[in-house]
Amino acid sequence: MKEFAYQRVVDIHDALIAADGGARYLGGGTNLVDLMKDGVEAPTHLVDVRFLPLDGIRETADGRLVIGATTTNSDLAAHPDVRRRYPALSQAVLAGASGQLRNMATVGGNLLQRTRCGYFATQVCNKRVPGTGCPAIAGEHHNHAILGWTSSCVATHPSDMAVALLAFDAVVHYETLDGPGEIPLAEFYLPVGDTPHEESALPPGALITAISLSGSFPRSRYRKVRERASYAFATVSIAVGIDDGGSARIALGGVASQPWRARTAEAVLLDNPGDFRAAADAELSAAEPLPGNGYKVTLARNLIVSVLSEVCA
Ligand code: SF4
Repeated sequence: MKEFAYQRVVDIHDALIAADGGARYLGGGTNLVDLMKDGVEAPTHLVDVRFLPLDGIRETADGRLVIGATTTNSDLAAHPDVRRRYPALSQAVLAGASGQLRNMATVGGNLLQRTRCGYFATQVCNKRVPGTGCPAIAGEHHNHAILGWTSSCVATHPSDMAVALLAFDAVVHYETLDGPGEIPLAEFYLPVGDTPHEESALPPGALITAISLSGSFPRSRYRKVRERASYAFATVSIAVGIDDGGSARIALGGVASQPWRARTAEAVLLDNPGDFRAAADAELSAAEPLPGNGYKVTLARNLIVSVLSEVCA
């Protein structure tokens, strides 16, 4: 690991100034530090944001739930308002990583974690150095994307939390030296295109300060299929929630470079509320599996039908 400077800040402006000078934000470090050890990331200056006043979860006067960016995954999953209003979010967080990691990992960092594509961690590829190719497409890709990928990159996004947040139309709030801003999570992750190294729509140097949620989804569920029940990233996962109007919100994980909102399936259900199979088939008609991951299409289809049947019963 290369030497780097470490700075702890308690003021948001100080963090933004440091980032403007080239520093990287450090939250729980559960992904970034691993990448530094592997030589994938080599920041020269880390600014530790865990002591900023961005911790905690609160309800606003207009009924939104605001989750501070440095709230740990454990605290998010256990919070009574999260469990009551968004049970699938709590389930998603608890399905991710281990208890020790959830105690360290922050909500803001969770959104920005990098893919766990095995090539990415061990060799140069398009996501690390543009123009160097994607060895996964002709190589090992059994747990890679089936939707929205391009010949530049076929990696998946590893977050469970972000899948549930997407189903609930979360909004990401951030701060910059030019002032605050916000991005709907549905627009937060950039399409792969031919620039897989560019992953989020955050402005340069922006610091995620919070995530907000509106409405309530007490009828919601997250289910994750993985190769090892104790601890593994999703093969395919799904978040389903029923909104105040009785419509289903559906998001998938493990199938694309970003959490995948199943809007085609949602539209089918608006016209045919009980036809879960038609909804799943319509969504997955866009799937383009590689030779080694066609099983994910079947898995995703079965998950959509199964979890919709449970939540809509
Ligand atoms: Fe790299 Fe993406 Fe290809 Fe994996 S799938 S090797 S991250 S370019």
